Order: sequence, then C-alpha cells, then structure tokens
Amino acid sequence: QSPAFPNGSPRKTLVILGSGWGSITLLKHLDTSKYNVIVVSPRNYFLYTPLLPSAPVGTVELKSIVEPVRAVARRTKGEVRYYQGEAIDVDVENKTVKVKSSDHVDEPLIEDLKYDYLVVGVGAQPNTFGTPGVYEHASFLKEISDAQEIRGKIMNSVAKAAILPPNDPERQKLLNFIVVGGGPTGVEFAAELKDYIDQDLSKWMPQISKEIKVILVEATPNILGSFEPSLIQYAKDLFKRERIHLKLKTAVKGVDDDYVTTKCGDDVEKIPYGVLVWATGNAPREVSKKLMEKLDEQDSRRGLLINEKLQLLGGNDSIFAVGDCTFHPGLFPTAQVAHQESLYLGEVFNKLYKIDQLKWEASQTKDTSSKQKLESRAQVLAAKIGNFKYNHMGALAYIGSEKAVADLAIGESKYSMSGSFTFLFWKYAYLSMCLSFRNKVLVAMDWIKVSILGRNSSV
Ligand code: FAD
Ligand code: NAD
Repeated sequence: QSPAFPNGSPRKTLVILGSGWGSITLLKHLDTSKYNVIVVSPRNYFLYTPLLPSAPVGTVELKSIVEPVRAVARRTKGEVRYYQGEAIDVDVENKTVKVKSSDHVDEPLIEDLKYDYLVVGVGAQPNTFGTPGVYEHASFLKEISDAQEIRGKIMNSVAKAAILPPNDPERQKLLNFIVVGGGPTGVEFAAELKDYIDQDLSKWMPQISKEIKVILVEATPNILGSFEPSLIQYAKDLFKRERIHLKLKTAVKGVDDDYVTTKCGDDVEKIPYGVLVWATGNAPREVSKKLMEKLDEQDSRRGLLINEKLQLLGGNDSIFAVGDCTFHPGLFPTAQVAHQESLYLGEVFNKLYKIDQLKWEASQTKDTSSKQKLESRAQVLAAKIGNFKYNHMGALAYIGSEKAVADLAIGESKYSMSGSFTFLFWKYAYLSMCLSFRNKVLVAMDWIKVSILGRNSSV
C-alpha cells in the first residue's frame, strides 16, 4: 500500500485484471502515481496478437512479440504491483477480487484483493460451440503456448509422414492440415502455413511439401466475412491459386483421433487429419460468466455488458470492463477497440483522481460554504466525463504470398486495398503498432532474417 497524499487523502486502489491489449494500454497511459495500482494476470507478459499467426511457422520469433508486464510497469510514473494469478471471482458489494496465485501449483494460494476501482480486461477464451472432441484434439491460436504446440504438431506430422511409403493412407492423413474458422485468425494462419510449405519446406522436403493439403473449413459462404465483398473475392481467388482448399458452407460437427467430421447441407464428410487448428471466435471466460450471473442487468451470454462510460451494467460506478470480455453492439472484439477503450479509461482515471481529491477535501472541511464549493466542483468535473466514442480506422489481414487486404476508414470515407502494396502497408502498420521499441526492432530483424535465410524448419 503506497502512502497517502500530502493532504492526507488516502491513495485509492485500482486493480487491473489482465495483461492484454486492454489492460496494458491502460497501464501505459495511466498516471500510476495517483493510485495504488495492482495488475493481476496469469500471463506475466503482453502478447502482440496481430503477429501470432506468423509465429507457429517461424516468420516471427515468439520472443519478438511479447513484452513483460514489469517492463511496461517500470516505464510508468508511479509504482505498480504485479500479481501473477487468475481472478476467479468478484465480490461487487464488498469490492474485493478473489485471486488464485499461479505460483503455488500444488496448493494454489487464494487471496482477496480489496479495490476502490476495478478494470476487468480478462479477454475471452476460444469458442468451440460445444463441438465434441475439439479440446482433446485441436490446437487453438490465442496464446504463445498454442503457437508452440502447433509448430510441434506440424514438425511431428511431417517427420512421421516422411518415413512412410508414398501410397500409405496414414501418410496423407498426417499431411492434411485443417484450419477451422474462416475469420481473420483462420485465414491469416492458413496463409502463413502455406507460405512456409511453399517457400521453405519445399526446399528441404520437395515431395512431402507437394503432398501437404491445407484445408480451411468455414461454416458461412465466405471467409473474412466482415471485409468488403471485393476483398473477400480477392482472398478467395488467391487461396484457389495457391491451392488452399476452401470448404465453405461447411461446419465442423465433431472431431476424433483421426477424423474431422464436417456437414455441408445434407452431406456429411469425414476428413482424416494430421494437424487441426481451431479458430472459430470467442467465448466468455469463467470469471466473466460468474460476474454475469451475479448482476441483474447482465443478460447477454456473449460478454459483459457495459454502458457508454465502460462501466459494468448492474455493477456500481467502480467496475469498468474493456476489450474482448465485453459485449457491446458496434464494438468488435479487436485490439483496436480494446486499445481505444483503454486510452479513454486512462483519461477517466486521471479525472476521477481529481474528483476524489475534491471529495476528500470537502469531507475534511468544517466550513459549510467551502464544503459546498468543493462538492459542486467535483460534480462539475464528474459531469465533464464524456462517453466513450469508438473511431474505427479499418481492418487489415494477411492472406499469403506477400499479399494483404485492407478495409480502411478515414473520416467518413472508406477505402479498400489489396495486393502486394497492401502487404507493405500491413507490414508498416503492424510494425508501428508493436508495443515497445524492442519489439519493433526484433520483429523487423525477424522479417529481414526470413527474407534472406528463410524460416527455420527445426522444432
Ligand atoms: P487479451 O489481449 O486476450 O488479454 C486478456 C488478458 O487477461 C491476458 O493477459 C490473459 O492472460 C488475462 N487473463 C485471462 N484470464 C484472467 C483472469 N481470470 N484473471 C486475470 N487475468 C486474466 N485484433 C486487431 O484489432 N487486429 C489484429 O490484427 C488482430 N489479430 C489477432 C490475431 C489473433 C491470432 C488473435 C487471437 C486475435 C487478434 N486480434 C486482432 C484480436 C485481439 O487480439 C483482441 O481483440 C485483443 O487481444 C483483446 O484485448 P483484451 O485485453 O480484451 O484481451
Ligand atoms: P471470428 O469470430 O472472426 O471468425 C470465426 C469463424 O468461424 C466465423 O466465420 C464462423 O462462421 C466460423 N465457424 C464457427 N463455427 C464453425 C464451425 N463449427 N465450423 C466451421 N466454421 C465455423 O474469429 P477469429 O478469426 O478468431 O477472430 C476473433 C476476433 O479477433 C474478431 O473480432 C477478429 O476481427 C479479430 N481478429 C482480427 C484480426 C485482424 O484484424 N487481422 C486477426 C485475427 C483476429
């Protein structure tokens, strides 16, 4: 607990849950000298998700796209405590968060942290829509460990297939790489995977690389559903040329040890697979679900409902939520949204500090007229806290073969771009959005290394 301010007012405790786009942006832009700041997250680093699809095949190294929470905290004005653990419950009435420490694996330590303000930025978990067998057999693409797992599976399948005779059905099974979900995650990963096979694996294992089939399964008629129709068509045409097999209007209904079962209309197909990556979007985390159950006004199953000031509906003024753990019409679960929400919250907390100071001074004065003046100044300041306004700047996606698509929004105007120049723009944009200078340098060096030496094919 940091000491009180010189005027005697106690420092309020701000607990931030998570270390992703929402929480870390807030930490970076908050005046941490004004609060006791405690960050709680099981992950002691920030992960730059836009380049995660490049990681399993080695276009970028994993260490290039992470930044320790403590490094971010050290660069802020005040003191920040980092607690490595998972929030498992929130007591809204008593303003406490129950945290399960990650350090004590055998007997986890559970502690209650008291807060004055709470920011929930716990993100989301992968959605399986209850499809049987997914958790047991598929890999997700959300965390660093997922990227490592996918890489291991690719290398294993290739190595096992290479020692089997060409006509062995087991060999084709191992070389079927299936990606489920044609949203940006599935598309970008399928594109990176095909690049790796055609540009690098083909040099060392030409026969195997020809036999590998990359299959993208999508339940709706289109991939990249939120992009402009012309860009969707461009991406589909490119996938066709690059021999990424698209199975549209096809939903995966189940997965077992050997097969992915799909349904297209009335046709049911069992596709043997060697590697399966599951990217069908987001579902709320357990801690978010618990909060939803507790609060009367939380009646969406898609995420925590928030008001225009990012306060939790049905909570009190002290709980805010940002990013993928929330659901709000018009706000997609993207880094762009989480980032802008947290920039806004940073400003809000700087104002709340001033309001709390005025309220404290009012509570300390015995003179009625001074008290009223201080209280009304606090009210005026509170009324000046505007609503959050999202400014959509567009969306970008890498689609392989050094090509990208971009839907850009500049003011009221919208622009669509695709192709190799867009890929350069994509590179520029993704590099400039990296969290730290260190990340920027490492990512740029990875790209240069890959363009000169190719990707590494060892595990
Ligand atoms: P996250 O960034 O997921 O962070 C959540 C944090 O909470 C994590 O640190 C997690 O460890 C922590 N946490 C989890 N459970 C708990 C708990 N119980 N208690 C405390 N902490 C907890 N968006 C874009 O705009 N552009 C892109 O190019 C883009 N590319 C993407 C690529 C991939 C592969 C993926 C998966 C997503 C991508 N997104 C992109 C979406 C973007 O990553 C998310 O919208 C963004 O990460 C949301 O930020 P967040 O802070 O809400 O959640
Ligand atoms: P998504 O929700 O955007 O797409 C999931 C896709 O999976 C949908 O098209 C859905 O129809 C399909 N699907 C669902 N169940 C299926 C099934 N059983 N069989 C086959 N297909 C099925 O998910 P995402 O791609 O993981 O993206 C999540 C969020 O992150 C989105 O908001 C996205 O915009 C954002 N994101 C952005 C970028 C980028 O901007 N480049 C990259 C990755 C993610």
